[in-house]
Amino acid sequence: MYRVVNKQALAKRLLIYFLPLLLIGVLVGAPFLLLFLGSFSLLVWHYHQLYRLSDWLLNQRSFNPPEGEGAWEQVFEGIYHLQHRNRKKRNELADLIRRFRDGAEAVPDAVIVLQRDLSIVWCNQLALKVLGLQWPADHGQRLDNLIRDPKFAKYMHLEKFDEALELESGHAVGQVLEYRVMPYATSQLMVVVRNVTRLKQLEQMRKDFVANVSHELRTPLTVVTGYLEMFDGDTLPPPAMWNKAQTTMLEQCKRMDSLVNQLLSLSRIEGARRQDGDKAINVVQLLTYISTEAQSLNQDKGHELIFDIDNSLDIKGSEEELRSAFSNLVFNAIHYTKPGGKIIVTWQTKDEQAHFSVVDNGDGIAPEHINRLTERFYRVDKARSRTTGGSGLGLAITKHVLSRHDSQLKIKSKLGEGSCFSFAFDKDKIVRTPALDSTQSHKSVTSE
Ligand code: ADP
Repeated sequence: MYRVVNKQALAKRLLIYFLPLLLIGVLVGAPFLLLFLGSFSLLVWHYHQLYRLSDWLLNQRSFNPPEGEGAWEQVFEGIYHLQHRNRKKRNELADLIRRFRDGAEAVPDAVIVLQRDLSIVWCNQLALKVLGLQWPADHGQRLDNLIRDPKFAKYMHLEKFDEALELESGHAVGQVLEYRVMPYATSQLMVVVRNVTRLKQLEQMRKDFVANVSHELRTPLTVVTGYLEMFDGDTLPPPAMWNKAQTTMLEQCKRMDSLVNQLLSLSRIEGARRQDGDKAINVVQLLTYISTEAQSLNQDKGHELIFDIDNSLDIKGSEEELRSAFSNLVFNAIHYTKPGGKIIVTWQTKDEQAHFSVVDNGDGIAPEHINRLTERFYRVDKARSRTTGGSGLGLAITKHVLSRHDSQLKIKSKLGEGSCFSFAFDKDKIVRTPALDSTQSHKSVTSE
C-alpha cells in the first residue's frame, strides 16, 4: 500500500526547509536573500523532479518509476500504482475481447460486428471467405456498400430483424446465404451469415422427389381409372376389349408395384446403418440366379449373353443390396440394347480388386446424360424407359449400394457403339473360396 501525500506533512516539510534558512538569514542580516535563494533552489529541484517524471512517462520503457525523492516519491509511487491498475484492467479487457473473438471464430458461420450506421467494427475469418471482405482494408466501411444488393440495403434499413434474409451470394456464384441480424449493447449489430446452399438444394430435391413420385404414380392410376370408368356394373364390355383392358391394367399395376418396391428399397438403403463387419456373400451363386433371370428377360430380345465369372471370387457385403446393384446393371443392358445385341458380364480380379462390369453394344448414351443417370427418376428417354417398366430409380439405388460398400459406379458410353457400366471392390473386401472347377473361372454363353 502506498502512502498518501497529506497536507500536514507537506506543510511540515516546508517549515523544516524554510525555518533554518530564515534563522540563518536573520543571523547574517539577509533573511529575504536566503529565502529567495531557498525558494529558487526548491523550484529548480521540483522542475528536475517534473522532468524525471515526464521522461519516465514518455520516453522510458521501464514499468517501474525512477527513485522518487521527497514529496515526489509518493507522486511517482501513485502514478505507478495507477498504471499498474490500468494495465491489469487493460489485460482483462484484452483477454475478454480475445475470448469473444476466439468464440466468434469457432462459430461455423460468418460473423460481422457493425455499428448502428452499418460500419464494420470486426469480422471473423469466415466472413472474409464467405462475403469476400478484406481485413483490415474494410474496417470502418459500411456493410451495405460492400454487399451491393438493394434487398440487403432495404432489410438493414427497415430494421425488422425478426426474420432472416436469404440472398444469392454476390461473391460465390450459385450460393445462397442467409443473413441474421441481432442488435446488442446500445448501438451495435451482430450479423451472422450462413451458407444455406446445401439446405436449399435438399429442399428442392425433396420437392422434386415428391413431384416425381406423384407424377410416376398418377400416370398408371389415370390409365386404370380410365378403364374402370368405361365399364359400369350393368353392361359388360366385349371380351376383346376386356382382354386388352385387363392386360393394360395389370401392366400398370405391376408398374406401380415395382415403383413402390424400388422406393422402399431406396429408403431402406438410405435409412439403414452401414454394417461394418459385413458377411462374406456367395457372389457366384448370386450371379447364377441373376443370369437365370436375365435369360428369361432375354427371351423377347434374343441377345447373346456372356457371363465371364471367376468361381472363387467372393466379397464381404450385404447380399440383398448387392443383388440389386448387380441385377440393375445386367437388366438395364438387356432392356436398353436393341434385339439381337451382345452383352458381356464380367466378374474377375483386376489390379488386385474385384471387378464387375456389364458391356453392351446398344445405342449408347450421349455424354450430357452420363453424369445425371444416377439421379433419382432421371431417364434419357422417358417414353422408352416406361415401356421397359423403368422408373429411373435403378441406378440411384446402385450408386447408394456401392457407396455403402466403398465403391463407385463408373459409366463409359459412346453413342451408336454401346455402354460399359462397372465397379470394383478393394482387396480387403475380397474373400477367396475354393473354386468349383479347376480353371477357377467359367464362361457361360446364352443366345436366345
Ligand atoms: P430405369 O428404371 O428407367 O431403367 P435406371 O436408373 O436403371 O432407371 O436407368 C436410368 C436411365 O439410364 C435409363 O432410363 C436409361 O435411359 C439409361 N440407361 C441405363 N442403362 C443403360 C444402358 N445399358 N444403355 C443405355 N442406356 C441406359
